[in-house]
Amino acid sequence: MTEAYIIDGKSIAAKLREQISAAVASIVATEKITPGLAVVLVGSDPASQVYVRNKARQTIAVGMRSFETKLPEDVSEAELLEAVHRLNSDPAVHGILVQLPLPQHIHTAKIIEAITPEKDVDGFHPLNAGRLALGLPGLVPCTPLGCLMLAKSWLPDLSGLNAVVIGRSNIVGKPLAQLLLAENCTVTIAHSRTQNLPQICARADLLIAAVGRPAMVKADWIKPGATVIDVGINRVPVPATIEEEGGKAERKTRLVGDVDFAAAKAIAGAITPVPGGVGPMTIACLLRNTLQAACTQAGIAMPQLDRSGN
Ligand code: NAD
Repeated sequence: MTEAYIIDGKSIAAKLREQISAAVASIVATEKITPGLAVVLVGSDPASQVYVRNKARQTIAVGMRSFETKLPEDVSEAELLEAVHRLNSDPAVHGILVQLPLPQHIHTAKIIEAITPEKDVDGFHPLNAGRLALGLPGLVPCTPLGCLMLAKSWLPDLSGLNAVVIGRSNIVGKPLAQLLLAENCTVTIAHSRTQNLPQICARADLLIAAVGRPAMVKADWIKPGATVIDVGINRVPVPATIEEEGGKAERKTRLVGDVDFAAAKAIAGAITPVPGGVGPMTIACLLRNTLQAACTQAGIAMPQLDRSGN
């Protein structure tokens, strides 16, 4: 039996960044505008710090300006809102991203709603969510956009396919379902209360898992030849070797997705790996959204980027 084609998110994201770089160079030269992305980081969560550092590095690498606002864990909601308002009115900032999660004492929805919708490069503002639901142009959340690009790199025409999205979060599952509907898929959204999940998945020509449970989706849930996009990022311990059992070595971990990748690749037609699948697309799509935001704010057309990533 032939194994699934592995959809290489790393190289598709690299191509997208190259296209963004060229488009940025062109609008810097012709319009004298340098797109700028501001990231707001509250507290000192190590994972968030790594994400923010990566975002800044990649923003600068495509020729954009990167701005960082770091605030302490105990910052008040009013101070954070004040920081967002300052960025809203700064003409050098075209995109604003507030790194989530925020500390418990801060009302996340209130902060997201304070971001000017035209600068909301995460696409989480209710106005952008509503635009997506209505099929109107707006800023689309980065991870779902990346998933769509990966699916289309393998299946350029999704029209008429049965798509099953597992997960209904506002940042992945719901917006992804809207994007697939706009591509004329027949969309099913499954979630924690869904019954008969394996049977529902077995109908999917395109199966997308966005749950956060290591290797939950088994190979025998997958329709032979289906395209599988794995959004999950789960850190699991690497099984200890006999020598390590003695307690000398530090316990190692690795990243796995929501799909049992090793078994699934014998059944699926194409599949994304974890790491190296959806993950790299998320930041590339953030840069794409920043370019789009800068163009909208300047009243110029967004340069044509290949949505399939090819
Ligand atoms: P979330 O916790 O907000 O949502 C998880 C969803 O899974 C919920 O809608 C829930 O109903 C559903 N679910 C939970 N248990 C289930 C079950 N047993 N059967 C069916 N559905 C079930 O998570 P999220 O923010 O949407 O993220 C999902 C996963 O994607 C996480 O692993 C996260 O780390 C990852 N993620 C990756 C990227 C990326 O860049 N690759 C970006 C965002 C999220």
